[in-house]
Amino acid sequence: MSKDIYQDALKQLDRAAQHSHAEPETIERLRHPQTALEMSIPVRMDDGSLKIFKGYRVRHNDSRGPTKGGIRFHPDVSLSEVKALAFWMSLKCAVVGIPYGGGKGGVIVDPKSLSRLELERLSRGFIEQAVDFIGPLKDIPAPDVYTNAMIMGWMMDEYSKITRTYNPGVITGKPISMGGSLGRDDATGRGAYYCIKELEKKRGWNPSEITVAVQGFGNAGQHVASLLHADGYKIVAVSDSQGAIYRKEGFDVPSLVHAKQSTRKVQPVYCEGTVCEGIPADHITNEELIELDVDVLIPAALENVITTDNAENVKAKVIVEAANGPITADADPILEKNNILVIPDILANAGGVTVSYFEWVQNKNGYYWSLEDVQSKLHNIMRSAFNEVYNIMQEKNIHMRTAAYALAVNRLADAIHAQGTHSYFAEIS
Ligand code: GLU
Repeated sequence: MSKDIYQDALKQLDRAAQHSHAEPETIERLRHPQTALEMSIPVRMDDGSLKIFKGYRVRHNDSRGPTKGGIRFHPDVSLSEVKALAFWMSLKCAVVGIPYGGGKGGVIVDPKSLSRLELERLSRGFIEQAVDFIGPLKDIPAPDVYTNAMIMGWMMDEYSKITRTYNPGVITGKPISMGGSLGRDDATGRGAYYCIKELEKKRGWNPSEITVAVQGFGNAGQHVASLLHADGYKIVAVSDSQGAIYRKEGFDVPSLVHAKQSTRKVQPVYCEGTVCEGIPADHITNEELIELDVDVLIPAALENVITTDNAENVKAKVIVEAANGPITADADPILEKNNILVIPDILANAGGVTVSYFEWVQNKNGYYWSLEDVQSKLHNIMRSAFNEVYNIMQEKNIHMRTAAYALAVNRLADAIHAQGTHSYFAEIS
């Protein structure tokens, strides 16, 4: 695995370039993020001391619209990671055909070590530094790993205060009371679920016979597991950063979600009313979970969990990337050789940004939709994007990631081409 995650991401672009109609100079454009902001955020801590946190915001490409993407609070954030995540956002928005380019932000921090007030000061401080870089028609942040609606609310409030205008469209994933959209909370997991439902049709699956392991039990993991469980899929393993649990018979997912939300740990329990009982399960590691003999593996946490070190041991038949970048570029060919279908991140987790787009549209219009409207519009977008990518994969006999990249790159190339000057010179020569 390359240590530089952005360079690793570019390998996937190079692989797809030959299957797209993009000019080499367009591919070259996409290799370089447009702009990157590095910021130092001073935060007054509760004990009176001052701490400076390092943050980033990257705008990868805005040819298809304002840049869009989350802000991550995590100790492992780096500029290279934020660049990779912004690059994937450009492709993700293009795959599902929503009018955005890609952006991303991050702060190097362990948010679990901060008090509520420290977290609020940090979130407001991020906006203070980024205020000229973002905007409803420029760059629109959203939640990502370890950020949530509460944080988006503080950020939107700070932006509105600084600009002295009520500006909900500057950020998405907000609380409903501050202009958030119904259905944004479970949108990432729901989008992945809609992809799995399309595959279910293609493979003629009976959900009760399909075993699923979910690595990461945050927003995306909990919701995709809950939706699959409700349809009868057998969720046999889940994990969080502390470890994993396995149960051959499958888990009652609502009880797991209840336990996770009340104890911040995944615990095998069964809850009826307020009474929860422990149920037996094997405790395994996150690494063991990745190698379980299941039908569907859903990495739903961070990058680089499937690498050349463990790809050969993956036994799942299908991997659904609810996380961004869980498979390194060099691990991909190993999975391909072993006939493992990968529904790639830029498609599988695009439900989040799609409902963010709906939120932004509602903010612009000041007219708010029902949950049914949001979910049926999301379903339509995910269904058609999945099938477009699936058909390209079959027609060209290529990996599903390469097919998704080819589709995205074509859409980006069309926008870049329409704005550019390349054709003047092509006609002259
Ligand atoms: N952070 C999410 C992602 O990686 C959502 C981004 C958004 O809603 O703008 O897709």
